[in-house]
Amino acid sequence: FLQGRTALVTGSTSGIGLAIARALAAAGAKVAINGLGTPEQITAALGEVDAAGSGGTRPASTKHFGADLRDPAAIETMMADLAGWSNGGVDILVNNAGIQHAVPLHEMPVQKWNDIIAINLSSAFHTMRAAMPAMAARGYGRVVNVASVHGLVASKDKAPYVASKFGIVGLSKVAALEYAAQGSRDSGGITVNCICPGWVETPLIEPQIEARMNGGSRDDGVRALLAEKQPSLRMTLPTEIGALAVFLCRREAHNITGAAMPVDGGWTAQ
Ligand code: NAD
Repeated sequence: FLQGRTALVTGSTSGIGLAIARALAAAGAKVAINGLGTPEQITAALGEVDAAGSGGTRPASTKHFGADLRDPAAIETMMADLAGWSNGGVDILVNNAGIQHAVPLHEMPVQKWNDIIAINLSSAFHTMRAAMPAMAARGYGRVVNVASVHGLVASKDKAPYVASKFGIVGLSKVAALEYAAQGSRDSGGITVNCICPGWVETPLIEPQIEARMNGGSRDDGVRALLAEKQPSLRMTLPTEIGALAVFLCRREAHNITGAAMPVDGGWTAQ
């Protein structure tokens, strides 16, 4: 049902972003990926997204846009290039790129604060301001921002991360309001939502698993991490976040906007 739609997923060379890019391609969208990595990693990610989309029949259409999201000028160039690639601007924008650094506030390096705010929050402002006018002109657009439970509740040792995630939840609500009346039920409208995952099995959380192994196995570290916060005691898989992102892109989701949806095994229900 996303045939003819184009999408950008930031931070899609790994983890949740790669899974969302694959899911959008499988639903028929032409997908631009972004993110850091070695040439081999980027080629592998492109191959995975194309394989998800083609079903063996479609020619490769996925492209990698390599902007470093700490750099607003690089984002601006990427969005201008994307307008050409997507015939005027992407229909679906997934702001997913993110980094973490967990230490107490007074030990947080200033550079980490700046990088986390730039990548996890400011980059979404820059992509949205470039992409949303074309969405409004078409009457269909989807912005899916991958926030976190840390956009809804705090944990210690994550000052810039929690600040960035509360920030992107607020930014998304403002944009949802500004674009709420655009488009129609038939066209699908313009929606802006956040997905707020608890623990998802990706490279991002490995240091936090390791910090809880206490000389035991990785499984011990995972169990300890889940026991602290996530009552289901199950990790979410990146593909499960991909499925929700695809649902939000459906026409039927036209009235789901300004929401911050936990996928957290009950973390924020406590
Ligand atoms: P990941 O480390 O697997 O992937 C992060 C992606 O962001 C990679 O593609 C990386 O190249 C990209 N990236 C990092 N710095 C960049 C930069 N300067 N410019 C461009 N791209 C950059 O992590 P993940 O777990 O898949 O995280 C994806 C998103 O999900 C993040 O926003 C993260 O905060 C959020 N999240 C993750 C979890 C979890 O448990 N894994 C939970 C809640 C929210």
